[in-house]
Amino acid sequence: MTKPKESSSLKASTVLSVVGRNPEEQWGFLNPPLYKGSTVIHKSLKSLVNLEGKFFYGTAGTPTIANLEDAWTQLTGAAGTVLSSSGLGIIALVVLSIVKSGDHILVPTNVYYPTSMFCKNILEKFSVRTEYYDPLIGSGIERLIQPNTSLIFLESPGSHTMEIQDIPAFVAVARKHGIKTVLDNTWATPLFFKAHSFGIDISIEAGTKYVGGHSDILLGLASANSESWPALRSTYESLGMLPGDDDCHLALRGLRTLHLRVKEAERKALILAKWLKHRDEVERVLHPAFEDSPGHKFWVRDYTGSTGLFTIVLKDGFKEAGLENMLDHMRIFKLGFSWGGYESLMIPVSPGAKQRLEKWSLNGFALRIQVGLEDIDDLKHDLELGFERLKEIKPVTLKAKL
Ligand SMILES: *Cc1c(COP(=O)(O)O)cnc(C)c1O
Repeated sequence: MTKPKESSSLKASTVLSVVGRNPEEQWGFLNPPLYKGSTVIHKSLKSLVNLEGKFFYGTAGTPTIANLEDAWTQLTGAAGTVLSSSGLGIIALVVLSIVKSGDHILVPTNVYYPTSMFCKNILEKFSVRTEYYDPLIGSGIERLIQPNTSLIFLESPGSHTMEIQDIPAFVAVARKHGIKTVLDNTWATPLFFKAHSFGIDISIEAGTKYVGGHSDILLGLASANSESWPALRSTYESLGMLPGDDDCHLALRGLRTLHLRVKEAERKALILAKWLKHRDEVERVLHPAFEDSPGHKFWVRDYTGSTGLFTIVLKDGFKEAGLENMLDHMRIFKLGFSWGGYESLMIPVSPGAKQRLEKWSLNGFALRIQVGLEDIDDLKHDLELGFERLKEIKPVTLKAKL
């Protein structure tokens, strides 16, 4: 396999092309085969007893899993990578690799909702106390640190409300106090934000989104720097929450075109977000590349791109029936969770309630938009018709319209 040293001078798109494959071990075939299995046959009693060989049993990994781990480690510039069966699964695994009973952890108020459920339903049982902080607090996080604080969790931009965090400020405070930092970097991917270069200890990617890219896998990836790597690996080995080999195989295929897909998502999302900003129905567009989006200056300073997910807040006064009428009949923007696939999606979100944003003052409906790879004019047309239905309230005969 390509060693980290060999690929460190290569640009990301080249790295994505050369990592995680080894034709010499595959009869010359370019792509690695899909390995699946639990049992590995050992050649001798000595080999069996000493767990010899790179692979000695399924839960210790397969070549397919190892290829993806290796690829991700090289892409992120980390010391090592572990994988899990979903984004949420890897978040749980990473947090468990850091905390112990009696600890205090800091989590942003706008965090991906299931992350906060993990803190409440699992961590609380082990007397790990979660305190929620304003994602834009920056170095003010120091005031919240207790003698037993072991982790500052970050998610940038935050789910639904898209705040970009001042990551270097958080890292500086954490380092000073010997506290670990974990970043959910799913939106930017390592292509647009180099978490470990900014001092983040463990960076998380829900591979379900852009890495998979086709809405047909569930996967989580976590890359760690050298200080956090041994605990992360041993937690992984103790939990046995492995991803399926088929999903890893598809993720490895997804990686080859990741740079093309995120750049196209960025381009389309920017066109659409600018267009939406000028629509009468829209009050605010929350997109990190926009000046009035929270934390925009940190995005300008630290990020090298944006992807295809953003939120719009509609003007106040539309009726719920109108919103239903709009969303039930979209032709391209379908209703569905997740994002990062080839298809456009839209879901209503309620930043005020679930995200615990104290400062949220907008009353209009908020919609999270995932921009897929469809034609931009078709996407605009779909939204135009949707806005008509939003205002009409009464159902229109769609067939005649489309
Ligand atoms: C989707 C998502 C996750 C979880 O990924 P799953 O594979 O769906 O469990 C975690 N963090 C963020 C920011 C996400 O959008």
